[in-house]
Amino acid sequence: MEQPKLIWSGTKRKCRECGEIAVAARRKEHPYIECGLQTVLVKGMEIRACSACKARQIVVQRVLELHQTIALALARKPSRLAGDEIRFMRKHIDWSGKDLARHMGVAHETVSRWEHQREFMSAMADRLFKLIVVLKCGQTADVAPAVQT
Ligand SMILES: [Zn+2]
Repeated sequence: MEQPKLIWSGTKRKCRECGEIAVAARRKEHPYIECGLQTVLVKGMEIRACSACKARQIVVQRVLELHQTIALALARKPSRLAGDEIRFMRKHIDWSGKDLARHMGVAHETVSRWEHQREFMSAMADRLFKLIVVLKCGQTADVAPAVQT
């Protein structure tokens, strides 16, 4: 089945593909791969389906809060971040790959290797980046205790 298109809340219940008002909405658990992560399941996400052209759309309510919740959950996980998680968190705090490299004191290529899962962040870099994300999200700095990996 074709991936549903992503639309933001506040859009009229009109099909974006064919323009018909033939859209039925239902809420269900949705693997939110549109955010770039494979592991996020959103409960009660609104899925709209057009009975005219069969197009599907998902409606993301309060996207900034949702992404903040995801970023903070990742920042507080005790295990090392995966590449797609680093990319998601970096984008959430509105940093480019160059910004991340500069703040972490590494080469731009290193960030690319982290995000493409060709190299893990060191344990210290992992904790520093999580701390940065927590602070950038306006939270107090409580990250998970270190786990020896
Ligand atoms: Zn349609």
